[in-house]
Amino acid sequence: MTSTLRAIARYWFLAALIFLLAILQLGLTSATPSNSPSPGPAPQGEADAGLPGVPIRATNLVPASTPSPTQTPTATATPTIAITPTTTSPATPRPTTTPMPSPTATPAPSPTPTFTPIPMPTPDGVSRTAHVPILMYHYISDPPAGADVYRRDLSVTPSNFEAQLAWLRSQGYESITLTDLVYYLALGWPLPEKPVILTFDDGYRDDYTNAFPLLKKYGYVGTFFLITRPIDYGDPTYLSWDMVKEMHRAGMDFQPHGYRHFDLRGKNVDFLVYEIVGAKEAIEARTGEVVRFFSYPSGSYDQQTVAVLQSAYFWGAVITGQGATHTYDDLFELTRVRVRGDHTLQDFEELMSYDW
Ligand SMILES: [Zn+2]
Repeated sequence: MTSTLRAIARYWFLAALIFLLAILQLGLTSATPSNSPSPGPAPQGEADAGLPGVPIRATNLVPASTPSPTQTPTATATPTIAITPTTTSPATPRPTTTPMPSPTATPAPSPTPTFTPIPMPTPDGVSRTAHVPILMYHYISDPPAGADVYRRDLSVTPSNFEAQLAWLRSQGYESITLTDLVYYLALGWPLPEKPVILTFDDGYRDDYTNAFPLLKKYGYVGTFFLITRPIDYGDPTYLSWDMVKEMHRAGMDFQPHGYRHFDLRGKNVDFLVYEIVGAKEAIEARTGEVVRFFSYPSGSYDQQTVAVLQSAYFWGAVITGQGATHTYDDLFELTRVRVRGDHTLQDFEELMSYDW
C-alpha cells in the first residue's frame, strides 16, 4: 500500500510539474509576436512586421535594407587641387630646339612677315623686248676626282670663269639684276648698252670661295639662287648664312631656289608655299631685302607653281630653257644661257653672240 501511495505521489508531482510548464509556455506565446515567417508574398526586405494574415501596408515596412540616408555619397571626390603648378617640375629638355631633319618640319620663317610685299610695277602699256643673256652657272670649281658627267657639266673651273668675266669686261658688258630687267620691260627704265645677268643656282660653297672674289675683281654683280635648307643645317657643301650676309653687303643678289630643291610640279598650295615662301623668308631674314625672283628647282614648274609665286609677290622666275630675249609677259619663264663645264672661251663667245 505504501509503495502504491508513493508511486501516486510521484506521479502527482510529475503531473503538477507538467501542468506548471504548460501554463508557463502559454503565457510566453501569447505575450510575444509570432516569429514565424509570414506566409504571404514577402515584400522586399524583412517583412517581419507583418503578422500572418494581416495585410502588409507600406507604412508597416521598415526600410531596413534600403540604403540608409547616412549613406549619402560622401563627397570624398572633392578635387583635392593637386594641380598646383609644381614649381619643382624639372625643365624637360625640349627636342623642338634641336634641328629636325623630318621633311614635315616647317621652315623657320617667322610668322609675321617683316617685309612689306612690293607689287610688280604696273606696265606703262609700251611693249618692249630685251635681249639680255641670263647666264646660268652652278659650281665654280674644279670637279672633284671621279666626278660623273653631270657634275663635270655643272662645274666651270675658276680659271675658265675668270676668262669669261675678263672677256665680258673687255667687250663692255655690264651686269644688271633681274629687278633692273623688270623695270625696263614694265616702265622703260634704261639698261646698259650691253647688259648681262650672271646667275648661280643652288648656293654651293664655291660661290663664296671662288665666284665671289672674281666677281668683285671684275666689278660684276652675281645673282645667287639658294636652296635654304642645307644652309639652315650647316651643310659645308653650301654657303653659310654668314657668307650670304657678307656677299650681300658687297652687292651680291640673293634669291630663292626652293627650300629642298624638290620638283614643284603637281604639288598642292601648302607644299608650294612651304618650299617657295619658306626659302624666300629665310633669305629676307638674312639680307634684309625683299626677294622677288625664283629659280625653279631643276627647271620644273606648272601653272600652280606660278600662281603661288605671283600670290607671294614674286616678280618673275628663271627657267633652264635656253634663250636671251625677254618680254613682260614672259617674266615667270625667263630663259637662260647655260654655261657648261666643257665650254671653251670660244664656245662662250659664241653663246653670247646668238640672237636667241
Ligand atoms: Zn638647282
